[in-house]
Amino acid sequence: MGRRFKCVVCGRLFPEGQGVFIGRGGLTLTFHSSRCAYKFLKLLFERADERCVLDTARGLVSELERVVELRGARVQKRV
Ligand SMILES: [Zn+2]
Repeated sequence: MGRRFKCVVCGRLFPEGQGVFIGRGGLTLTFHSSRCAYKFLKLLFERADERCVLDTARGLVSELERVVELRGARVQKRV
């Protein structure tokens, strides 16, 4: 039997190759489903230091908006 991981949100065990893993700076968070990952992300967003999290979130939103715009431009060219 392969390795099993524990979901940090609900405690469910799941096998390697499934679930969601997020790691940084020696900490790896394991979630059995994207729903549990979303729950954790929501709590993190609500509780993390506002100055850090809002600047990063705004930066990410504009970065992703540019990606969506570029994708839209590429799709239009093909038509
Ligand atoms: Zn879970």
